[in-house]
Amino acid sequence: MLQVLQRIVQEVNAARDLRHALEIIVHRVHEAMGVNVASVYLRDPERGEYVLMATLGLNPEAVGKVRLRSREGLVGLVGEREEPLNLENADQHPRYRYFPETGEERFHSFLGVPIIHYRRLVGVLVVQEQDQRRFEEEEVAFLMTMAAQLAGAIAHAEASGDIVDLRRRKRKARNKPLMGVPGALGVGMGVAMVAYAPADLSAVPDRRAEEPERDAEAFRAAVQAVRAEVEDLSQRLGDTLPRDELLLFDAYLRILDSSSLVDEVERRIKKGSWAAGALRQVIDEHVRVFDEMEDAYLRERAADIRDIGRRLLMRLQLDAGDKREVPARCVLVGQEVNASQLAEIPQERLAGVVSAGGSSSSHVAILARALGVPAVMGVTDLSLGALEGKDVVVDGYAGRLYVEPSRTVRREYRRLLREEAELTEDLKQLQDLPGQTPDGKRVCLYANTGLISDVGSSLNSGCEGIGLHRTEFPFMIRERFPGEEEQTRLYTEVLSALAPRPVTLRTLDVGGDKSLPYFPIQEENPFLGWRGIRLTLDHPEIFLTQLRAMLRANVGHENLQIMFPMISRVDELEQSIALVQRAREELAEEGVATPLPKLGIMIEVPSAVFQIDRLMEKVDFVSVGTNDLTQYILAVDRNNARVADLYTSYHPAVLLALKQVADAGLRHGKPVGVCGGMAGDPGAALLLLAMGVNSLSMSVANLLRVKWVVRSFRYDHALRLLEQALPMDHPEQVRALLHDTLDEAGLGGLVRAGK
Ligand code: PEP
Ligand code: MG
Repeated sequence: MLQVLQRIVQEVNAARDLRHALEIIVHRVHEAMGVNVASVYLRDPERGEYVLMATLGLNPEAVGKVRLRSREGLVGLVGEREEPLNLENADQHPRYRYFPETGEERFHSFLGVPIIHYRRLVGVLVVQEQDQRRFEEEEVAFLMTMAAQLAGAIAHAEASGDIVDLRRRKRKARNKPLMGVPGALGVGMGVAMVAYAPADLSAVPDRRAEEPERDAEAFRAAVQAVRAEVEDLSQRLGDTLPRDELLLFDAYLRILDSSSLVDEVERRIKKGSWAAGALRQVIDEHVRVFDEMEDAYLRERAADIRDIGRRLLMRLQLDAGDKREVPARCVLVGQEVNASQLAEIPQERLAGVVSAGGSSSSHVAILARALGVPAVMGVTDLSLGALEGKDVVVDGYAGRLYVEPSRTVRREYRRLLREEAELTEDLKQLQDLPGQTPDGKRVCLYANTGLISDVGSSLNSGCEGIGLHRTEFPFMIRERFPGEEEQTRLYTEVLSALAPRPVTLRTLDVGGDKSLPYFPIQEENPFLGWRGIRLTLDHPEIFLTQLRAMLRANVGHENLQIMFPMISRVDELEQSIALVQRAREELAEEGVATPLPKLGIMIEVPSAVFQIDRLMEKVDFVSVGTNDLTQYILAVDRNNARVADLYTSYHPAVLLALKQVADAGLRHGKPVGVCGGMAGDPGAALLLLAMGVNSLSMSVANLLRVKWVVRSFRYDHALRLLEQALPMDHPEQVRALLHDTLDEAGLGGLVRAGK
C-alpha cells in the first residue's frame, strides 16, 4: 500500500496544474481501491460552499456545477466533523442530499474523508460503491493517508490562484500566503522568475566518442568558458560585496580546478565515452557522495557541483543559455536557489528571493542579506511550475510569499514600502541621539554584524557599538579553518572600524544548521548536538587560534569583548575563561602584551537561565540570544516553516525567562543585553527596557526604529506594559497589546511581524 501511495503522491506532485493533479487523484484512488466512484470536493471559503472538482464514476458534466453549502449533504457533514464518514446506506442518512446531475442514486455505500492542511479544511475526498457495505478499516486508513498527502498540493494551488481558476473559470487574486522562514528582512514586490537548470544532465545518454581527442578538447574549452563565466559573475558582484564574501565563488572555481572532477572526465573520454556522457557520470558520482551526507552544508555543496555540471553541459551543447528576459522587478524563485543564479540577475532588477529549500543560514540567504534583498527560505508547498511570470510579494519579515495577491494585499504592502521609505527618512534625524526614554532611562543600542559589509553599514547607523559579531561566516566560506593571521586581520578590521565603541566578538558558533565544508558533522539532531561552545571546547587548537587572533586584534584598540555561545553548563564557562587566560599567557610569552577583554556569555539554553546566578558571578556581561532561547524553551525548530506559527518570543514562558535573566543582572550589578531578533522588534524592545535590560543589539535595519520607540515612550509607561504582559496566557495577547500600544502612540508604521 505504501508503494501505491508513494507513487500517487509523486504523480500528483509532478502534475502541471491542479486540474491534472485532481484527475490523477480520482483515477488512482478509483483504481487502487477498486471502487465505483472517486471524487474530490474542494471548499470555497469565500462562498462557504463545497464544489465538485473532479470525479471518476459520477457524471463528468457535474464537475464545477455541483455545489453544496457548507452544512449541506454528507460532504458537508464530513467537513463539519473533520472526521471520516463511513456509511453502508448513504441514501438513508438524514443528511443525504441528491443531485440529479451526478447520477449518484445508484451508489449506496459512501466513504468521505476530510482534506486538512495545517488545521484548515480544504476539501473532502469521497469514494462510493453500488453494493451496500461498510468500507474496511484498511480502506478508510488508505483514503485518509491519501487525503493528508494531497492537502499540501491543494493548499499550494489555492495560494497560487489555481483553484479559483477552476471554480470560476477566471483568475482571481488571493490573500493567503505560502509560509516559509525569514531569510533576509524586507519586502519585495515583483514578477516571479523560476531559477531552473538550464541543461538537463540527467537526460544525457551514454554514447561512444567518435573522436575522443576532439571531445576532450571541447570539454577543456567548456571548463575554461565556465571558469570565465564564474569569474565574471563574481566580478559583477565585486562592486557591492567585500572581497571576503566573494570567496563563495572561489568554491566554484575550486571545483572546476579539482583534478578529481576534471581529470576523471577526461580519463573517461580517453577511454571512449563522449564528453557529455563522461561529464554526467562523474558529476553523478560526486553528487551522490555529497547528497548522502547528513550534514546540511555538505548537501549544499552537492547543489554547487550539480550547478557546475549543468553549466559545463550547457557549454558543451553550445547552448547560449537562458534566453528569458529578466523582469524589471524580478523575484527569483527556485527549489534550491543557489548563489550563482542569484548573481546572474542584474542587481537593479532583483526584488526578492524565494527558495523551497534552505534556511536563514544558507549561502543564498547570506548573500541576499549582504545585498539588502528580501528573502524567504524553506517555503513548503512551493510548486514551481505554476509560478513563472506571476506577480508575487515577498515578505522577508514574516517569511511569507503571496502569489497573485489581491489588490488589498498589494495595496497594504505598497503602503508598507512607502511608509518604510518615509520612515527611513524621518528616522535619520535620530542617528546621533542616544537611546533614551523621555524620562531619562538609558538603553544602549548596538548592531549585529557578521559580514564585513554589515560592519560598513553599522558605521553610519548611529549604533553605539557592536553587540554581536558572528564570526562563523569566514569559517563557512573557506576550504579550511582560517589561520591566526587571517583571523587577526579580519577582527582588526572590525575592531578598528568601530573603536572606541565596544565590539563583542562571539567565538565560533557552528553546528546546528551552520556547518563547515571541511569539518563535516553528521547528527540526527544537530540543534541538540555538537554546537557552539561544545565543539570549540572539544577542539582547543581551533578555539585557541581564534582567541589569540581576537586578543591580538585588540592591541591598540582595547574595545574588544568576547562572548561564548551556547553555554549550558558552568564548567563550559570555566574552561572557556581558562583558555582565554592561556591564550593571553602564550601571547605574553611571545612578547605580545594584550589587555584583558570583558568576557561574557550568551544565554540561549534554558539551563543557563536556571543557573543564571552561578554564571553571572563569573562573567562581565551576559547577552540573551532570543532566537535560540525561544527555540529551546518552546521546543520549536526556528527554521521549520511547519511550526513557524508556534515560534514566537512573545510566549509568556520566554518573557518570564528573560525577566529572570534581567533580574539577575540587577542583583549582580552586571549588564544584561539581548542580541536575538527580539531586540530589533520595536514593541518587544519596550518590554525588554522595562525589564531592566541594558543593551539591545540588532540588525542595522531595525536600529533607528527601536531608537524611535525608546525615545517616544516614558519608562513608567513601559513598566506598566510589562506588568500587563507578564501575566498573560497567550502570545497573541502580548502581540496585540504591543501592537495596539504602538498604534495608539501613532507609531503603527513601526510594527512589523514581530515574532
Ligand atoms: C540567538 O540565538 O538569538 C543569536 C543571536 O544567535 P544566532 O542567531 O547566531 O544563533
Ligand atoms: Mg544562537
